[in-house]
Amino acid sequence: MNKDIQILITDDDLKTRQNLRDILSEDRYKITCAGTLAAAKEMLVKKFYNILLVDLKLPDGSGLELLKEKKKINEEILIIVFTGYASVENTISAINEGAFAYFQKPLNIDELRLTIKKALKMQELSLENKVLLGRLKELSLKDPLTGLHNYRYLRERLSSEFKRAKRYILPLSVLMLDIDYFKSINDIYGHQYGDLILKEISQILTTAARGIDVVVRYGGEEFLILLPDTNKEGAIMFGSRLLNTLTEHIFDPKANKIKLKVSIGICSFPEDSVNTESGFLDAVDQALRDAKELGGNKLSLFKNLNKKDITAMLKQGGEENIHKLKQKLFKMEHRVTQTLLESIYAFAKTIEAKDYYTGEHAENMVSIAVGIGKTLKLSESGIANLEHAAILHDLGKIGIPDNILHKKNCYRFFKSALFIN
Ligand code: GH3
Ligand code: MG
Ligand code: MG
Repeated sequence: MNKDIQILITDDDLKTRQNLRDILSEDRYKITCAGTLAAAKEMLVKKFYNILLVDLKLPDGSGLELLKEKKKINEEILIIVFTGYASVENTISAINEGAFAYFQKPLNIDELRLTIKKALKMQELSLENKVLLGRLKELSLKDPLTGLHNYRYLRERLSSEFKRAKRYILPLSVLMLDIDYFKSINDIYGHQYGDLILKEISQILTTAARGIDVVVRYGGEEFLILLPDTNKEGAIMFGSRLLNTLTEHIFDPKANKIKLKVSIGICSFPEDSVNTESGFLDAVDQALRDAKELGGNKLSLFKNLNKKDITAMLKQGGEENIHKLKQKLFKMEHRVTQTLLESIYAFAKTIEAKDYYTGEHAENMVSIAVGIGKTLKLSESGIANLEHAAILHDLGKIGIPDNILHKKNCYRFFKSALFIN
């Protein structure tokens, strides 16, 4: 067990060095010897030593110097000091400088052996603590579900990236992404299914991002990607590609195939004249909300209204603003209807999952039904009703047990009953 433990003995007296080497080698420690301060310093820089045994009085200086440099050389090393001259000041100085123990010559070998054992135990515990603390820090900065960085990490990282961008006038972009209608997905397929979607989307984001980008789970179904050294143009290219990849991707955890729609907001430094980290996050959030207001499933850029724009808006008076508010209300209403439609679609997918249909059965039925409705010159609301009905045309299958629905002769029976060739 001791064969990996490295001990450096530093003493100008050859006999002491040899004696200690012989005795401690019996305990299977790896021993190295130095006769001067300079030689010890050189060795300490080259290799990790667990323990340093050092005589205070060396030909080229005091062993205390090594104690003073301990932090620079190796924080974990434990130093045991010995000297031929008993002096209270020496003891105090050595202990103050962080020596683990102090011995007077002639050395009591049994006591020295015991002290080395204690020192090694303490070092082992301290190293274990360091590893645990490191892991704890890592965990506190990670999202447990997706393994991505969390909001706390983002705040730390954004601060340093923003400072760097400002100091060296480098571009920095941030992209915020929110899954559209995610609540409906949870409602229909269950929370666990929703969790699997969040994990899968995290993997796609990580794969799409470069090594230097920082992918963060910002909140529930919101993600943020910090893009260092990326200007607005680059961020738009990346965002468009990402939107495409995500909306084309077929998610099929638990064999329930679905497609997602996402909204993306983008803000860039220095183009968008944001000067603080919080301002940066607010701006990208605003861009994302704009994408949602436009119906979702799109990418939106931060529009920075400057003082001139605001004064102009105020001058335009009430009528213009009322018109804008009306437009906003219309968009919100449109989104509520969209949400309802999405829920119906998701429901239809549950029905499809029960049967052997593959591909886009509900969508095909919708397109045929709407085609017929248009040919019959039905009103807009009539066609909308037809669309919803077509999505749900297989609703009855939900209540039919799988062993009946999937019976081999079932389809043949229906075919003959309906006189289909
Ligand atoms: P919008 O299109 O406006 O973005 O609507 P939405 O339904 O996607 O978003 P909303 O903000 O209304 O709701 C977010 C949903 O995300 C609500 C919550 O159930 C779900 N969610 C948040 N965190 C988790 C999670 O860790 N796991 C799962 N499965 N769902 C989550
Ligand atoms: Mg959402
Ligand atoms: Mg959200």
